[in-house]
Amino acid sequence: MGDGAVSELSRIALQRADLFRQQCFINGKWTGDPTHAVHNPATRGLIGHIPNLGRTEAEAAVAAAEAALPKWRAEPAAARAKILRRWNELMLKHQQDLARLMTAEQGKPLAEAMGEIAYAGSFLEWFGEEAKRVYGDTIPAPSSDRRIMVLKQPVGVVGAITPWNFPTAMITRKVGPGIAAGCTVVLKPSELTPYSALALAVLAEEAGLPPGVLNIVTGDAEPIGRVLTEDPRISKFTFTGSTPVGKKLAAQCAGTVKRVSLELGGNAPFLVFDDADIEAAVAGAIISKFRNTGQTCVCANRIYVQDGVYDQFARLLAEKAAALVAGDGLAGVTQQGPLINERALQKVEAHVADALGHGAKLLTGGARHANAGTFYQPTVLRDVAADALLTREETFGPVAGLVRFKTEEDALRLANNSRAGLAAYAFTRDLARSWRVSEGLEYGMVGMNTGLISTEVSPFGGVKESGIGREGSKYGLDEFLNIKAVFVQL
Ligand code: ADP
Repeated sequence: MGDGAVSELSRIALQRADLFRQQCFINGKWTGDPTHAVHNPATRGLIGHIPNLGRTEAEAAVAAAEAALPKWRAEPAAARAKILRRWNELMLKHQQDLARLMTAEQGKPLAEAMGEIAYAGSFLEWFGEEAKRVYGDTIPAPSSDRRIMVLKQPVGVVGAITPWNFPTAMITRKVGPGIAAGCTVVLKPSELTPYSALALAVLAEEAGLPPGVLNIVTGDAEPIGRVLTEDPRISKFTFTGSTPVGKKLAAQCAGTVKRVSLELGGNAPFLVFDDADIEAAVAGAIISKFRNTGQTCVCANRIYVQDGVYDQFARLLAEKAAALVAGDGLAGVTQQGPLINERALQKVEAHVADALGHGAKLLTGGARHANAGTFYQPTVLRDVAADALLTREETFGPVAGLVRFKTEEDALRLANNSRAGLAAYAFTRDLARSWRVSEGLEYGMVGMNTGLISTEVSPFGGVKESGIGREGSKYGLDEFLNIKAVFVQL
């Protein structure tokens, strides 16, 4: 480790130094040589290293998960729930350490990281409780000498791949229901944010999770991904990440007909009608657009504003965006962290250049920050062309592009003109319109008069090319359960 690593680590200032692990977690053992470097996007400083594992180690992890399965699925739901609850309690006990680690490797402001740890832990507790309510059915049979019952059973070994934008919550949202249902898991976290994942494993072990129930493999995405999607010992594959990678992995799953859940990219429309509470709409747009520096799959990506309030909304949004404080997330005042890497920064620059080239006007921002990290200024553009890159692709950065519309029909047509279908938002005070628009939006989730739609009790997921399946809520457990019909002849 060089000096850079020492200084990044000392800035994180963990109260419990053993939460920082530079090895993988397979079959309850810490393993692998740390060779792959991990950097802080705010400073570009080196945090540490992780193992660069591949097919062999991924297969060993699958073997461990397979071996742990019979005992784990035979445990009563209450016993599994107890471990999940303890795990959540440990996450909350070490919330500050977990959040600081996350901010260092991901860049988000510490307050957001603290929020994510609580949100992430909530999935463990929620699904532990839900697992106690995995009810079957009895079905009236077509003849009096037969009985029909429906059992719900864990699918088996689960393969999971998670992204860097919510390094902890995207893991617990999969691992929580999987483990609660009685499955065992092999997880590959993003190589950009591995330390959040590895710290979770420390606490899982402490909570009493038996060896092999959760295995974490870091390294080369392609070969590890091949094992998780193609190995016949894995029954279910769950992925959160970009749409192109998700499609490729889903195709890889076809050979062994795995159950598949995908949570892919969005391109969220945000509609503001003339009859909206404009202050609330601006506040909703700020939270939806700029949370995590615009790097969430449910971030408002296209903001459609009706004629009558367009100028007022544009002015207020630009004022609020310009006031956001950007900087190192570990500094308490920061509201905007860096983008995850240089590639993300270049995409944002390309989207802004394209919009300006097609007649958009810059109200605030529009450039990189003058600092070491991968920062881009919170940006608002008005008069963006309806077919600009900014509206067609997910920008994944702090850029709000405003498009004007005239009628409700126009707004719905523009909003639905996308192959993505994850989240959509609308602001109106007209009750009938709120119903028409909620029902008319071809999306998995609608925020009506709110920019915040994520909680463990509500189903999260998309339609069209944004995904398959739901995470969170009572529906989230179904993804990890098989339905079995049992016929009895009397
Ligand atoms: P992003 O572009 O936002 O980083 P990705 O879809 O590339 O999103 O990454 C999400 C997760 O998918 C990460 O854990 C990443 O390592 C993983 N990943 C990327 N490419 C592959 C691949 N070919 N096979 C398996 N996993 C992959």
